[in-house]
Amino acid sequence: MLIGAHVSPAGGLVKAVERGTERGCEAIQIFNQSPRMWRPTPYGEDDFTAFRQAAEASPVQAVLIHAVYLLNCASEDAEIRAKSRTSLIHSLRVGHGIGARGVVLHPGSAKRGDVGAAIRRAGEVIGEALAETEGCQLHLEDTAGAGGTLGRSFDELAALLEAAGGGSRLGVCLDSCHLLASGYDLRPASGLAETVDEFDRVVGLGRLGSLHLNDSATPLGSNRDRHADIGTGELGETGCAAYLSEPRFDALPCVIETNGPDRQGPSAEEVSLCFKLRERGLASRRRRGR
Ligand SMILES: [Zn+2]
Ligand SMILES: [Zn+2]
Repeated sequence: MLIGAHVSPAGGLVKAVERGTERGCEAIQIFNQSPRMWRPTPYGEDDFTAFRQAAEASPVQAVLIHAVYLLNCASEDAEIRAKSRTSLIHSLRVGHGIGARGVVLHPGSAKRGDVGAAIRRAGEVIGEALAETEGCQLHLEDTAGAGGTLGRSFDELAALLEAAGGGSRLGVCLDSCHLLASGYDLRPASGLAETVDEFDRVVGLGRLGSLHLNDSATPLGSNRDRHADIGTGELGETGCAAYLSEPRFDALPCVIETNGPDRQGPSAEEVSLCFKLRERGLASRRRRGR
């Protein structure tokens, strides 16, 4: 597993590699543009080359791009869908340029409308964005299930993948906080294994491309997306240790998206805690013989 954090690219893409390195990250995640604006940041080939060189010379081995939260590929409003498609295409192009493992996308929201129709609309937009681009993978993230958000269950993720064409560039990003909030109990030692078994049955482990580790400030099945710092929420240190040491997650990048102790995002201490919790999780698995 490649452990790391969501970091800011403020001041240029290369700065994200520096911030990741300062925090001891093996993986980083960035927004490719300001999360509150539709306007894309105009990165060019020089920025991409500089980023790839900086990453090459750093401990950062995997990069994820998070598409911004304004996107709603499932919107009933054709203009929002068109803007979402344009923005997603931009994210995928930046991802291709910097050699990202994937673009992570919240699949969209049905708001109060019909879920099946919303899945079809989202699938169409996502399929078009993939057809317009090349190379970079797209990981649909599971959601906490607030309001009409799509991706709250493995069945919904499977339906979204199929609606988007089911191509080889489509994958999934699993977020520990969202899983717990949407009703998957990762905490008992066997709970995580059962959840991963179910994911494999319904979606297929081959689709799993990236992970988010966040502790949850709200309880199992609350359908609310409130990240807690690692070890301080409903998962606790034991739940986080189990997630970080799950054998079937081994080859994947896993980034934290917490507020951090000073609310400036994940800190170096928190990333270092994740490495320790992974070791603790591995040791307890060895004791239990699995
Ligand atoms: Zn996440
Ligand atoms: Zn979240």
